Amino acid sequence: MPFIEVARYYEKIEATSGRLDMIDLLKKLFVETPPDILDRVVYLTLGSIAPAYEGVELGIGEKLLLRALSLATGISQDKLEKKYPELGDIGMLAEWAVKNKTAQSFFQEDLTVNKVYDSLINIAKIVGERAQDAKIRTLAGLFSDAKPLEARYIARIVTEKLRLGVRDMTILDALAEAFLKGRVYRDKLEKKYNIFPDIGRIAKIVAEKGMDGLEEIHVTLGIPIRPMLAQRLRSAEEIMDKIGPKVIAEFKYDGERMQVHIWPNGNVRIFSRRLEDITEPYPDVREFVARAVEGHEAVLDGETVAINPDTGEILPFQELMHRRRKYGVEEAMKAYPTVTYFFDVLYLDGKELLDEPLERRREILLDLLKENEKAKVVEYEVIDNNVSELERFFEQAVERGTEGLVVKDPKSQYQAGVRGWSWIKLKRSYISKMIEPVDLVVVGAFWGKGRRAGTYGALLMAAYVPEEDVFKTVCKMGSGFSDEELESLPKILEPYKIEHRHASVISNLEADVWFVPQKVAQVLGDEITLSPTHTCGWGKVKKDAGLAIRFPRFMGWRDDKGPQDATTEKEIIDMYKMQLTTLPDASEVSISEKR
Ligand code: AMP
Repeated sequence: MPFIEVARYYEKIEATSGRLDMIDLLKKLFVETPPDILDRVVYLTLGSIAPAYEGVELGIGEKLLLRALSLATGISQDKLEKKYPELGDIGMLAEWAVKNKTAQSFFQEDLTVNKVYDSLINIAKIVGERAQDAKIRTLAGLFSDAKPLEARYIARIVTEKLRLGVRDMTILDALAEAFLKGRVYRDKLEKKYNIFPDIGRIAKIVAEKGMDGLEEIHVTLGIPIRPMLAQRLRSAEEIMDKIGPKVIAEFKYDGERMQVHIWPNGNVRIFSRRLEDITEPYPDVREFVARAVEGHEAVLDGETVAINPDTGEILPFQELMHRRRKYGVEEAMKAYPTVTYFFDVLYLDGKELLDEPLERRREILLDLLKENEKAKVVEYEVIDNNVSELERFFEQAVERGTEGLVVKDPKSQYQAGVRGWSWIKLKRSYISKMIEPVDLVVVGAFWGKGRRAGTYGALLMAAYVPEEDVFKTVCKMGSGFSDEELESLPKILEPYKIEHRHASVISNLEADVWFVPQKVAQVLGDEITLSPTHTCGWGKVKKDAGLAIRFPRFMGWRDDKGPQDATTEKEIIDMYKMQLTTLPDASEVSISEKR
């Protein structure tokens, strides 16, 4: 197929503003294209040469392009650079250059789709020392053979600026019109696309085999499934009304979505929520997941969070982003280890599981995954017709450093690519609003693990209640210590150590070591949240709940203060209420949405 035919369609598509006209033009283009190269035409129409998740980059910047253009046309680079601002678009510049070329090529051949596509693949593949020169030569070869209109689109494709405004969904519409007896089959086509988002291959299959071809499309290891997404409601009650009475409530970890494909030989590939291949920055996830499902073929869905290596606490999402930097994966892996919490299994040993109800998929997941320190099943509860139980679980989730819950309908199928009502998120409603530090009393401690073996992993901190002359717990603090401070903890606290909980300490938690309430530390947290665990403010803000400081960090000792000078329960309650009144609707802005 001559490339000029495709270029003429692009020109028309560029000129239309109506979506239906665009679909119509695409339909005609697809029908005219020989089926065996339709995949190539589809990739090119989307401005690339492969499905997005393969991450193929052409790697041609504008500078390189100008060099290739100059080589092919005999027009100096200088002149091209001067002309560029006048035309304002790299495609128009290429078209102008080819139209006005001074160099004559003797063996000019008409370009075909295959010739253009193969050259682009070559350009993408060339690596190594002389890569740049080789890329330029290949590209110049294309420009020498190109007609002006062809040059316009080649230049835009290689610089990743095609921008015809055609998206995958428009292509699906056009494919259904062209090969599947109209729009009736559009939904079926989209369902297949959602589990196999290689739009080029899908196009080729339906062009060659029509509707029957669709039956051949299955979940395939190495090809990401479009993830299912969640809706959102504001309260546990609303969620119960919507999908209750029986629900599966899961912690909503604030990390990175991961779809993990595992081969029986231990090979693993990881895809992001946007279907990019993110295997590289997560060698540890790869290793521990492979170990957890050894010998199986599987596709799992989960969320990876960064954790504090010493205390096991979940860290805020930002800490994970160290992994996404290009360099230093090794260092980041040590400083910011991760845990992956799996909440779904989509495929196992040759069987697609998407249409199984969630409760069945959960059983399969529990059977399959041999949990280890870095690969676990999501923390969840099955709750039957009990709103206050759902609220309590939500508070527990927030206190544990997560964003809240994702509540799911146990009977629901996995709807790939869909933001449906069978998954509903319930998020904490504000972020990072604790500006002032507080002064809290150390009343207990927990032994550390790993690097912190031999010292404390976290201290149990309490606020003072002058009315009752008692201390009520408000957080476990394991962050913010320097190495020296950490090491010195047992020694500093030794004088206050006692065998049992002190009579003036009110705690629901069982510490490993108890202290006389004496030593005061300054603590800064992110915010104050409701808590099913801590006793500070118990029953005073809400029945059967206390208050907790989220992500508390040690800021230093306050040896100038005695335990009675510590921040009081009442002050903490007031701070909690202040957060609510000063921030009426920060709820819409969550960290993950800002990403
Ligand atoms: P959001 O980004 O606020 O729309 O929330 C949806 C995201 O929460 C998903 O894409 C996942 O990355 C993440 N997530 C964390 N925990 C879960 C869970 N248990 N089930 C589903 N999604 C989860």
